[in-house]
Parts: sequence; C-alpha cells; structure tokens
Amino acid sequence: MKEINPFYRSIKWKSKREKILRRDEYLCRECKRYGKSTTATVIHHVFPLEHFPQYSMKSSNLYSCCNTCHNSFHDRDSHELTEKGKQLLERLKSEIVE
Ligand SMILES: [Zn+2]
Repeated sequence: MKEINPFYRSIKWKSKREKILRRDEYLCRECKRYGKSTTATVIHHVFPLEHFPQYSMKSSNLYSCCNTCHNSFHDRDSHELTEKGKQLLERLKSEIVE
C-alpha cells in the first residue's frame, strides 16, 4: 500500500480543503460538467502534488470531486495522471499557471 503523503495531515491542508469544498459548494465539479449533482468528497490536485509541490495550496489547482471522478484522474497503480487527468490539466492549466 502506498504511504500517505504527510502533506494531507497538515492543519494548513485541512483548512484549505474545507475552503475549496465550500467554494465548490460541496459538489463534484467533474460530474457538474455533465449536469450531475454529486457530493464532492476529495480534492484533486490538477497539477499532481508529487510533481508540482509549488501548486499544492493554490486554489486554482484544487478541484473538488467525487471518489469515482478522482479515481478516473489517477492511475490506480502508478498514481500518474490518466488521459482524463491530463485533459483536465490541459483545460485548467492557463488558470493555474500565471
Ligand atoms: Zn464526479
């Protein structure tokens, strides 16, 4: 099993996470694109945390989503972005990188 990044245990992250969920009205932004209302339970790092720690707390890099959508953005084994995760990054990167 993959070890959880200590980042996720930090108080700073926990409060950031709450803020982002509130910003996104606790709804999965990916499902919302398809007209579905699903409760968001995970915050996805559009630029992955492991490779882009500089964007780890950047609001524009944080994307509320449901578990199903989150799993569709990351490869279960390698944890790298899937095609879908890469497409999301392409779509949002201009807002993230200024
Ligand atoms: Zn979803």
